[in-house]
Amino acid sequence: MKFGTKAIHAGIEPDPTTGAIMTPIYQTSTFVQDGVGNHKGYQYSRTQNPTRDILQKNLAALENGKYGACFASGIAAIDCVIKMLKPGDEVVATNDLYGGSYRLFKTIYEQYGIIFHFVDMKNIVEAQRVMSEKTKLIWAETPTNPMINIIDIKGLASLANESNAILCVDNTFATPYLQNPLDLGADIVMHSVTKYLGGHSDVVMGALITSKQEIADEIYRIQNSSGAIAGPMDCFLVLRGIKTLHLRMQRHCENGARIAYFLHAHPKVEKVYWPGLEDHINHHIAKEQMKDFGGMLSFTVKGNDLEDALKLVKQVKVFALAESLGGVESLIGHPATMTHAAIPKDAREKSGVVDSLIRLSIGVEDVEDLIEDLDQALEVL
Ligand SMILES: *Cc1c(COP(=O)(O)O)cnc(C)c1O
Repeated sequence: MKFGTKAIHAGIEPDPTTGAIMTPIYQTSTFVQDGVGNHKGYQYSRTQNPTRDILQKNLAALENGKYGACFASGIAAIDCVIKMLKPGDEVVATNDLYGGSYRLFKTIYEQYGIIFHFVDMKNIVEAQRVMSEKTKLIWAETPTNPMINIIDIKGLASLANESNAILCVDNTFATPYLQNPLDLGADIVMHSVTKYLGGHSDVVMGALITSKQEIADEIYRIQNSSGAIAGPMDCFLVLRGIKTLHLRMQRHCENGARIAYFLHAHPKVEKVYWPGLEDHINHHIAKEQMKDFGGMLSFTVKGNDLEDALKLVKQVKVFALAESLGGVESLIGHPATMTHAAIPKDAREKSGVVDSLIRLSIGVEDVEDLIEDLDQALEVL
């Protein structure tokens, strides 16, 4: 089955009791048993819920995996992966990581004796340098946030293989429409379902997908034992959102390309970070491992003036000033004062998050309106 057909049909059967084409919301905590141990596969909704089961199957199919697990948030999904480790185990992670992942690693799990190395994975030799027999997990995010760096998943997978470490890829920015890390050798794919998969800015959820049974067993054991599950109503909303994932992604990518070229040619713009541009540092890897280049883009304004950047994000009318990404509506953000404000200026500027850096999550509106909006905002600088 091809992607669009899977998005609409994979894992989904008409409801056996009524024929309802939409998956019912099984808003129930428990399931009545005919006799002790004699049940229909469901006992308690923390362990298993029919609405969640169907979403888990659908997500697994989209990532070409065998097993899916849904969590209360993207961070809860990441938390589950780290709980597979033991004190003394080491993790090699991307340095320009989603801020919440960094906070979870540094402020929660370092206390439990897990050791994290953050490295620039644009060049995977950097990862190899800090790996040892204690490395149990490689944690990668590509494209990264907010510098839209691209990391070679196949290269990391062979590093992980050589040292018996697990490779987990946070595929939130790319979505399974653009990139399938399991096909490139990753062991686990993680998603903040909150973003493109949900797609309508109305749900917070996370997911893990794998094809390896021993990893899946661990994931389900932790999902049930720690209990950060996704609720049935949210699972229904995501199942509905996913039915248009391929259509939305096509438009996100088209709009992304038009806006990237518009900004690239604009006299007030210094640099555009979008993997589809030939001057992107890892454009060749993006071309290899992604189907298209997506709707996430960052750029800097000439002069690198903080006031200019703040004026610009205030001046736009169609773009909304907000954190998050991946919804149908276009968002604009200023990483230095919003998502990355907690990182010291020196460290943040070293990774490229300068005062004039602007991040866009390009939605599915008519692109002419989006370009006109950016044009009038750049005009006032
Ligand atoms: C949002 C996000 C997360 C965290 O997901 P939540 O659903 O907000 O908990 C993790 N990784 C990336 C890349 C994200 O954008």
